[in-house]
Amino acid sequence: MYLYNSATHKKEEFKTHTPGRVEMYTCGPTVYHFAHIGNLRSYIMEDVLEKYLRAAGYTVNRVMNITDVGHLASDADTGEDKMLKGAKREHKSVMEIAQFYTDAFFEDCRKLNIKRPDVVQPATGCIAEYIEIISKLVSTGCAYLAGGNVYFDTSKLERYYIFNDHDEDDLAVGVREGVEEDTNKRSKNDFVLWFTRSKFEDQALKWDSPWGVGYPGWHIECSGISMKYNGEYLDLHCGGVDNAFPHHTNEIAQSESYLGHAWCPQWFHVHHLNTPEGKMSKSKGEFLTVSLLEKNGYDPIAYRYFCLQSHYRKALVFTWENLDNAAAAYGKLLNRIAALQPGGDADPTVFEEYKTKFLQQMGNDLNTSMGITAVFDALKAKTNDATKLAIIGEFDKVLSLSLLEKAAQLREKAAQAVQSGASDYVITGEGDPEIDALVLQRYEAKKAKNFAEADRIRDVLKAKGIELTDVKGGASWKRL
Ligand code: AMP
Ligand code: ZN
Repeated sequence: MYLYNSATHKKEEFKTHTPGRVEMYTCGPTVYHFAHIGNLRSYIMEDVLEKYLRAAGYTVNRVMNITDVGHLASDADTGEDKMLKGAKREHKSVMEIAQFYTDAFFEDCRKLNIKRPDVVQPATGCIAEYIEIISKLVSTGCAYLAGGNVYFDTSKLERYYIFNDHDEDDLAVGVREGVEEDTNKRSKNDFVLWFTRSKFEDQALKWDSPWGVGYPGWHIECSGISMKYNGEYLDLHCGGVDNAFPHHTNEIAQSESYLGHAWCPQWFHVHHLNTPEGKMSKSKGEFLTVSLLEKNGYDPIAYRYFCLQSHYRKALVFTWENLDNAAAAYGKLLNRIAALQPGGDADPTVFEEYKTKFLQQMGNDLNTSMGITAVFDALKAKTNDATKLAIIGEFDKVLSLSLLEKAAQLREKAAQAVQSGASDYVITGEGDPEIDALVLQRYEAKKAKNFAEADRIRDVLKAKGIELTDVKGGASWKRL
């Protein structure tokens, strides 16, 4: 596979430390609110990447943290702790909201066919691991104590900026005017590893440490959790593009200083989903969620289809109109798959040929829109329906668009409508439910003015030796 690597700014051949095995890490959600559909864009694309790697034959160990402590309102060390803010908003304890929004996150993931990572670790569960790393960083002079907190000393690094060579001022993400700067820092990029006597006196969760009672900074959790479950050599680290600086930059600084060797060579960053007004943000309070999509009548998988139509390295603009278009395209695709008749044997040669091509196309920097095109190509393949269904089923192990399941539901629904007479469209023929269902699908396509699809179904029927005649209020068919 060829994947763009933000650490080298190049598309490179994907490699792993141990042949055949991928140690993969994903920055998980900060569980102080529902995930917005922008966050979920990142998780959808990372899910496709994981499934692609598995389909390509790798064993994958995917680890994800749940941020339930230490993430401040800015991604740097200023502002209020996001979890505390969430707890205050809802008059609940930090642990209560952490549990509630973690469950909500995985429920959204389930609806979007996002697989649960192999390891999911809340940040509050690995305090001993962070203390061990920080202790070594302090003893080797990579970190210092100031004002009661422990800071990473970025001046000790040979190279700090990994992902961008910008002017330092441009990189002061989140350090907004009016927010008090931390004067304990020796230099602006230094970051907190452990808070004790900070301004967050009312911090709910605190632990004992060699530097006093306190709590970890945000960045240390990902290094600690990854090293615990992925080992010393991570192959692939994922996150949204806003995580690159300062979060991932700081993760690299502390991990490599602790380990004494390179840590993770490949970095996968998903670009943002924006609204026409700009960035989507949880902290603004009003944002788009999976529940809102459902409330407005959309199948969450149509949103997954919408995301897969675009490349992960391009910003994507969300509008209801764009989602409508994706939902219509997804619906048409399902109808076409529903028109295929299950049963019979697949042709292994054709199956392998299509699978190889699919892996090749998707393996070009996770080209998901080519992955969708490949499904349409399979529908047009010169082979029998059983082979087409087998190919589509194989592709969907990576795309996870529920293609076969939803097509089967459509087939079933059409057959039931005909059998129960619920349809106002009367079909007369030999009483074969499969043929009746196809005839009804053709009618539905015509009703939706999708004439190309209607003609296509007529051709499918013709190929099956069925002659169809439109009659008033319905259709009649016979076998030739
Ligand atoms: P958070 O819950 O804020 O820690 O973010 C969870 C994940 O969503 C991180 O990987 C972020 O980089 C990512 N993310 C945040 N905003 C967006 C967005 N608008 N589009 C895509 N990904 C995002
Ligand atoms: Zn992280």
